[in-house]
Amino acid sequence: MDKREYTRCLIVGSGPAGYTAAIYAGRANLSPVLYCGMQTGGQLTQTTEIENFPGYPKGVDGNQMMLEFREQAARFGADIRDGVIVKADFSSKPYVLTTDRGVEIEAETVIISTGASAKYLGLSDEEKYNGQGVSACALVMASFIAKKWWLLWVVATLLAKKLATLPVFVLKST
Ligand SMILES: Cc1cc2nc3c(=O)[nH]c(=O)nc-3n(C[C@H](O)[C@H](O)[C@H](O)COP(=O)(O)OP(=O)(O)OC[C@H]3O[C@@H](n4cnc5c(N)ncnc54)[C@H](O)[C@@H]3O)c2cc1C
Repeated sequence: MDKREYTRCLIVGSGPAGYTAAIYAGRANLSPVLYCGMQTGGQLTQTTEIENFPGYPKGVDGNQMMLEFREQAARFGADIRDGVIVKADFSSKPYVLTTDRGVEIEAETVIISTGASAKYLGLSDEEKYNGQGVSACALVMASFIAKKWWLLWVVATLLAKKLATLPVFVLKST
């Protein structure tokens, strides 16, 4: 493998921001090269249902949505690669970034879209209950709690109806 390459546009990260950048750069004929990093598709691949993204009126699975982002970026010529950027030299142009496989990439433009990772509290059962009440996303949590209160209301209503049909015993003192 050639250890030194050149690109007009290098994108670091494959979350929504990285793929969006790749779609725009691809459409601008910049032939972008995108490195996915250790989490291909970004944080949304950790969740099952996304309900707040425009264009998906019925909600969408996070992995499915990120596959569609990737497909759209590839359609406009983005060169999407596995690998992590481990070093960057921005001291002069073209910038030089190095991958974990030792490939040096000279780039006129670098778009850094490395996102974030959730900070958990470190409690013992956090991982066990992740997605079942423990969440790193405020939007997901709000919706989860709203759904649970609704569920509680249904259970309480059903119980109340059941109780109303039970025979009533009247205790008499002799
Ligand atoms: C469990 C969970 C559920 C969520 N649910 C929702 C939701 O329902 N709705 C919503 O709007 N938001 C949700 N979010 C938030 C949403 O995931 C983030 O806001 C969004 O993913 C941020 O996108 P991003 O592209 O900026 O970065 P990220 O998705 O964080 O992607 C970062 C990318 O950078 C890459 N990267 C990092 N370092 C390097 C490197 N050195 N070299 C190469 N690549 C690198 C990673 O591999 C990754 O691909 C949720 C988050 C979590 C954790």
